[in-house]
Amino acid sequence: MASLSLKHIRKVYPNGFEAVKDFNLEVEDKEFIIFVGPSGCGKSTTLRMIAGLEEISGGEFSIDGKIMNDVEPKDRDIAMVFQNYALYPHMTVFDNMAFGLKLRKVPKAEIKQKVEEAAKILDLDKLLDRKPKALSGGQRQRVAMGRAIVRNPKVFLMDEPLSNLDAKLRVQMRSEISALHQRLGATIIYVTHDQTEAMTLGTRIVVLKDGDIMQVDSPIKLYNEPQNLFVAGFIGSPQMNFIDATCKIEGDKATLAFDKFTVTLPPAKSKKLADGGYNGKTVVLGIRPDDLGDSPIELETHKDSTIETDVTGYELLGSEVILYFKLGDVNMCAKVDSRTPARLGDHIKLAMDSQKIHVFDKETELTIT
Ligand code: ATP
Repeated sequence: MASLSLKHIRKVYPNGFEAVKDFNLEVEDKEFIIFVGPSGCGKSTTLRMIAGLEEISGGEFSIDGKIMNDVEPKDRDIAMVFQNYALYPHMTVFDNMAFGLKLRKVPKAEIKQKVEEAAKILDLDKLLDRKPKALSGGQRQRVAMGRAIVRNPKVFLMDEPLSNLDAKLRVQMRSEISALHQRLGATIIYVTHDQTEAMTLGTRIVVLKDGDIMQVDSPIKLYNEPQNLFVAGFIGSPQMNFIDATCKIEGDKATLAFDKFTVTLPPAKSKKLADGGYNGKTVVLGIRPDDLGDSPIELETHKDSTIETDVTGYELLGSEVILYFKLGDVNMCAKVDSRTPARLGDHIKLAMDSQKIHVFDKETELTIT
């Protein structure tokens, strides 16, 4: 398989629009890299430049140390799987999978062996004589994967490959892709809108916004240690709550005041705010819905960071429930155990786990702690 290097990659479309700005990423062999970000942030453009389907306007792209900027797509040893699988309707599953190899004039016996091998991996071996119209959505998606696998490429690129499948099939294919990654030991770059796909599949996630990389990290680090407000708000569902707060530092203790409340930050977080000179300044307090609780234990443990409010919305998820509320004119929510007695209209107390409070600079939107 392969390692990829993207250095200062840019894309300026002919109309002058800069879709990708100074993209830097080193992908190691066998990594599963996810590109996420809002619509139009440059995910597909970057993927298409790697595939050679889009010209690179600036910077250097190499595979295993070999510069690829001007290498033809067919010579890059990359296979791409698209969201609309693009199967040939008049061909059988076998022929669809064999097509690329036939074009390359691979000997017949070798084609047969490779297709059968891939079909086995993808559990398609009993369907090789069928035409695409006689397959389910998930089976078609697997044929599209199979077509990529038989080529044994150095790199797989996948552009929202599961977006046309229903929810149940997506979950099934997600674990199949994960297993496939391990079995093939492949280097994969995968574009998705779907948070769960990003969090469960990726070894590292690249978060993009307006053609800029916001952060590159493992899923757990992105969730726990977002580097800025954008990443904090983009990763996690329901999204992190944000509220403006005034920082006050007395001795080695920092407190944040907002609406009618004041929370005390733990020592390490207090120190960051003190060192940064935030006394008297407005900052943004971030707290994930999961880090707000209403159990007696939480209320006792986090006495210094408890807020009181009225429940304005109640959404049962099963074992958990989302309680919606307002602080001033800011809409917020908490995800708590569904055994909570709280119901719509109730006046409740919520404890913030102060260790889990994030604080952002209001101007730069960068994480302070
Ligand atoms: P989505 O999630 O909606 O697929 P994306 O992150 O994949 O979005 P891209 O398709 O890479 O976004 O597009 C990035 C930006 O470049 C968008 O603003 C888009 O409008 C613009 N763009 C794409 N193709 C062209 C083009 N041929 N000419 C000019 N601008 C383009």
